[in-house]
Amino acid sequence: MKFDILTIFPEIFDSYLNESIIARAISQGIIEIRIHDIRKYSKDKHKKVDDIPFGGGAGMLMTPQPLYDAITAVKKKNKGPVIYFSPQGKTLSQTKAENLAKKAQDLILICGRYEGIDQRIIDLCVDEEISIGNYVLTGGELPAMVLVDAVSRLIPEVLGKDESHLHDSFSKAFKRKKEYPHYTRPAKFKGMEVPEVLLSGHHKKIKEWRNKNLK
Ligand code: SAM
Repeated sequence: MKFDILTIFPEIFDSYLNESIIARAISQGIIEIRIHDIRKYSKDKHKKVDDIPFGGGAGMLMTPQPLYDAITAVKKKNKGPVIYFSPQGKTLSQTKAENLAKKAQDLILICGRYEGIDQRIIDLCVDEEISIGNYVLTGGELPAMVLVDAVSRLIPEVLGKDESHLHDSFSKAFKRKKEYPHYTRPAKFKGMEVPEVLLSGHHKKIKEWRNKNLK
């Protein structure tokens, strides 16, 4: 599965995507992530990508030309839907991540900055707006990483056997509920003991306890 990410801050992605499970998935060729600098597509002599909003108001907006040209160029190699991250979008859920992973369609992800992007880009080029929650971030780069992470870990072979996603919070197996509490060694820590049933080795009872403690 390929993710093409359009941003004016390409370096932001360097650290996160080069570590741990996502880095391994990339090196194994299970996923591919290509970062595109929107600014490179600006026809402005100073490579400007923002301007004041018509009608006034605080802040700047991303201008349509660099975005349009960047999306057009990326679309030549990626035929998947274009997602724009925005607080106005539908909130990302585990079910949505599961559906995207199952379809395994390549995705084009647009990260906004400033006060957002010109509405005509949304009308002309965007297939879907996705929010990662009811709060406002400075840019769409974190949302892009959130989506890439949430979707990638659901692609078969990205997680090892021990890290299976089938029994995680919001999974079907947990009836979309949140996971039960976990404990590891030592059995007693700061005077606090692990629930006895978890030490019993009694698989049926452990399963019952865990089901009861889903939230
Ligand atoms: N003026 C916008 C508003 O009030 O909805 C906020 C713009 S925000 C400062 C800049 C960019 O960050 C947005 O264009 C979007 O790409 C991204 N962003 C901020 N919060 C987000 C969220 N909760 N979910 C997804 N993207 C978000």
